[in-house]
Amino acid sequence: MMAHSAPSPEREIFTAFLEKNRLKRSEQREAILDVFLKSERHLSVDDLFRLVKRRRADVGRTTIYRTLKLLQAAGLASEMQIDGQSRFEKEYNRQHHDHFICQGCGEIFEFSNPEIERIQEEVAAGIGFVIDGHRHQIYGRCSRCARRSTVAS
Ligand SMILES: [Zn+2]
Ligand SMILES: [Zn+2]
Repeated sequence: MMAHSAPSPEREIFTAFLEKNRLKRSEQREAILDVFLKSERHLSVDDLFRLVKRRRADVGRTTIYRTLKLLQAAGLASEMQIDGQSRFEKEYNRQHHDHFICQGCGEIFEFSNPEIERIQEEVAAGIGFVIDGHRHQIYGRCSRCARRSTVAS
């Protein structure tokens, strides 16, 4: 029997999105959404595949990918590219933020800074550029990895 999950705005949005696009609701899609909503991370398709697999062995990687694209189209997930790999994070009701990416351990840190936002708007306005959005990805090493590499060398 399928365990029914508590209603949430995200589930309602997804259901409405599926109906609007004449797509079927399926237990697989709902399980994927559930696992995605519970995670607090920037998930690759494989990350999510592994997590969903624990609950449902019948969900394939392609279904995970397609469902993530649907979640993105529904405004519930956003996709970013890190080292040529797609990663997805929750989008609904989230503030804009940017990312520090550790190249040692792969950890992703979120940050947002009004001053940086303000400066880039100013620079854009200076050349008459209209910003639709942006994504900062700053690569480097987290404090732990930075300490480790100094010790090693
Ligand atoms: Zn690190
Ligand atoms: Zn993020």
